[in-house]
Amino acid sequence: MNKPIIIAIDGVSGSGKSTMARTLAAKYNFMYVDTGAMYRAVTYYAIEKKYLTEETLLKSQLIEDLDKIDICFGKDGHTLLNGVDVEDKIRGIEVSQGVSKIATIAEVRSAMVDQQRKMSHSHSVVMDGRDIGTTVFPNADIKLYVTSSPEVRARRRHAELMAKGEVVDYDTILKNITERDYIDSSREVSPLVKAADAIEIDNSSMSIDEQNALLNSIIEKHLS
Ligand code: C5P
Repeated sequence: MNKPIIIAIDGVSGSGKSTMARTLAAKYNFMYVDTGAMYRAVTYYAIEKKYLTEETLLKSQLIEDLDKIDICFGKDGHTLLNGVDVEDKIRGIEVSQGVSKIATIAEVRSAMVDQQRKMSHSHSVVMDGRDIGTTVFPNADIKLYVTSSPEVRARRRHAELMAKGEVVDYDTILKNITERDYIDSSREVSPLVKAADAIEIDNSSMSIDEQNALLNSIIEKHLS
């Protein structure tokens, strides 16, 4: 069997990493792992258990529960938390507002990273997140680092949420995106940084077709 290939896609919130990752996974028949969904699922668990509220974070209770939190992906790509489909719930603004705080907890990160490494055993994989090329797979075959301006990202996310019927104002989304950028890049454990050997893509003024063409050229060059 050929050696499994790992494509790591990191970058700022809402920069279109998951669209990119899904496109590549479908094209090359690789497994897709959305690591942001895993941190979101832990956050949803913490909210449900009332470990995370606007005022408090009961960190040690959450850490104690980590071995009771099973996250996997269904055939339709939906995120399953202890066997229950939580896909819609983890995409809402409440989880978005808490997730970066949960993702600063070292014990949560190490539990997620272990699971992410196991998922790639014997599979070629496209994984997107914040620390894939730096921490999870520092030896990934291809590393991409995706950015775009906060305003462009907020506009895209706003349109996505509106299309799903979730009414959230643009300013709330912009604030959430800039807060998450800040927390994600300034945390102590595995902060969001561009790996030295990652290829940077700024898609602020790229169409999806232009982005796909660029991606194809990068991937074909590396795989050939
Ligand atoms: O990718 P997404 O925006 O869904 O990720 C949600 C949050 O999960 C990020 O803002 C970040 O705080 C956290 N995350 C992380 N490391 C990853 C993936 C996501 O810290 N590998």
